[in-house]
Amino acid sequence: MDTQERLEHLQNVLRERGNRLTPQRVAILRALVSDKRHPSAERIHDVILPDFPTTSLATVYKTIALLKEIGEILELGFGDDGSHFDCRRPYPHPHLICTKCGAIMDSEVDNFQNLIDSLASKNGFTVQTHRFDIFGLCPDCSGK
Ligand code: ZN
Ligand code: MN
Repeated sequence: MDTQERLEHLQNVLRERGNRLTPQRVAILRALVSDKRHPSAERIHDVILPDFPTTSLATVYKTIALLKEIGEILELGFGDDGSHFDCRRPYPHPHLICTKCGAIMDSEVDNFQNLIDSLASKNGFTVQTHRFDIFGLCPDCSGK
């Protein structure tokens, strides 16, 4: 799904739920779906401030909370280092995280779901969700 389609999808879902779509909220949604780098709420706040200077960080968090409630955003929490968000792919998927520059990269791999399923079934475990983070150095930081 491209950025514009994803934005329209979110607007439709929220409209159908009866949530208000203020220009400010649409700007927050647009900033979230446009950013491929797994932004923090602070980052989204910085992006929309030039157009909506009165927007508080709390307003950004409110929209994110709403998206979480309806399963349209993936939160990657890092304890004291805060959270980053993926509003382009709101379902669990693997991430590669650079310990030097903080880059968070998406990656697809064949048979990933099979791995989850076999780990779970081997242990009689019923999967609700999963999270797979790989920490290391991105190509820029490792000089490759
Ligand atoms: Zn890096
Ligand atoms: Mn992601």
